[in-house]
Amino acid sequence: MVFFNGRHVGTVDAGGPSTPTDPSLGGDAARVVGPLSHRPATPFSPFTGPSPMLIEITPEGYDVDLDLLYATPDNITGRPIYARAAGYLHMDAAALLAHAVALARPLGLRLRVFDAFRPAEAQWTLWAACPDPDFIADPRRGSPHSMGAAVDLTLVDAASGTPLDMGTGFDDMRHESHHGNQDIAPEAQRNRHLLLGIMTAAGWDFYRNEWWHYQLVQPRGRYPVLSDAAAGTRMMPETAVPEAGA
Ligand SMILES: [Zn+2]
Repeated sequence: MVFFNGRHVGTVDAGGPSTPTDPSLGGDAARVVGPLSHRPATPFSPFTGPSPMLIEITPEGYDVDLDLLYATPDNITGRPIYARAAGYLHMDAAALLAHAVALARPLGLRLRVFDAFRPAEAQWTLWAACPDPDFIADPRRGSPHSMGAAVDLTLVDAASGTPLDMGTGFDDMRHESHHGNQDIAPEAQRNRHLLLGIMTAAGWDFYRNEWWHYQLVQPRGRYPVLSDAAAGTRMMPETAVPEAGA
């Protein structure tokens, strides 16, 4: 059970009262539980031009490390997905990231970002490599990453630059990556709980199957799914196929 401001808001399996978990969503699409949003639903129209809502996350601007693995071959496709290593977030998510950074800093910790905004084209690339809705959001539904509303990250010791042991790597799609898994070393469990505490205290929601994934509460319907062109981020190779079948 999870409590927020002393109030029970749901369980990992049942979800909060306002947003029941839909297992069919799967992947980083499904919200589980987290702090309740105080922000009313905001209607958005699909953007046809560069999004004014996305903010570039730079190490200098946000005091974070960027290790954008989808711009390298070190990802589940074995090839770079992004032509340009860049991190963008919706301004609402960027504000929560800054909050998490501020919470981590006095503890001697930094956040290391593996992925942030993910153009819709990239979601299709990932889905083609791993069409498993437990780990990858179906691109027909859109990932919160493609809204600029999700971030994948870990904790790093600020003094040494060494990542904290989280028990599994990023995008390790085994049950050992689930929150609450106790098959990993106690130290790794402690580190995951630390990341979970920092991120949820900063206002992020978490996803039970991926210790590295955090997202805004209830992003669907509040934020549009953006293609690379719509976002104006120029992250995708020129040859990327835009949103086939969407
Ligand atoms: Zn994610």
